[in-house]
Amino acid sequence: MTALFISDLHLTPARADITGAFELFLHEIPRPGDTLYVLGDLFEYWAGDDDVSAPFNARVCDALAKTAAGGVGLFFMHGNRDFLAGEGFADRARVSLLPDPYVFDLHGMRTVLMHGDTLCTDDTEYQKFRAVVRDAAWRNAFLARPLAARHAEIERLREKSETEKAGKSLEIMDVNEDAVRKVLLETGATRMIHGHTHRPGRHDYVMGGSARKRWVLPAWDQHAGYLRADSGGGALIQID
Ligand code: MN
Repeated sequence: MTALFISDLHLTPARADITGAFELFLHEIPRPGDTLYVLGDLFEYWAGDDDVSAPFNARVCDALAKTAAGGVGLFFMHGNRDFLAGEGFADRARVSLLPDPYVFDLHGMRTVLMHGDTLCTDDTEYQKFRAVVRDAAWRNAFLARPLAARHAEIERLREKSETEKAGKSLEIMDVNEDAVRKVLLETGATRMIHGHTHRPGRHDYVMGGSARKRWVLPAWDQHAGYLRADSGGGALIQID
């Protein structure tokens, strides 16, 4: 059994190339019996599950559902862009929703999965924003608004976020190493897998007398690819 990990595809009708690469990936890479973990920001944004039947969203969900029907176990964790994806999305795409963080045993190695945004603790402005929009009261009020109004509000927030990002240093937008170590210690994990920072790579740690790894998944608009993990270990694979 091979476990595959992807994140940060930021799928949108505006990027037919990435959508095509994702559909090809689903068709070519996972084999029956494999497990595919999507660690957030699959979509550029998700306005609510009542948007699941919009043609583009339906196309992506149906591609996932077809993969699930082929015998691949699908798991989905929210990112900061698609955190409003709920049971309506999960049912249509045939994915199981995972909490962030999610700790489990993978091939005998205690592993923690995260989207990665909660590790970016130096970005205090973002963490404040996150606390607001992840609150159940905010979510319920937002989802009660008409779909068109939600689309407009998300567009406004995205523009604001792009402007703010331009004024932030690259260090601020990366993970805070103390935050990483804290999660590794608290969960007892020897392997962490996350996305969000768009800096794919492997980082090695020695903590509490044990070697630990942190894998960072690529963002598909920069380097389409995935992490493959089996009993022999892990490898980041780039898709040409
Ligand atoms: Mn993200």
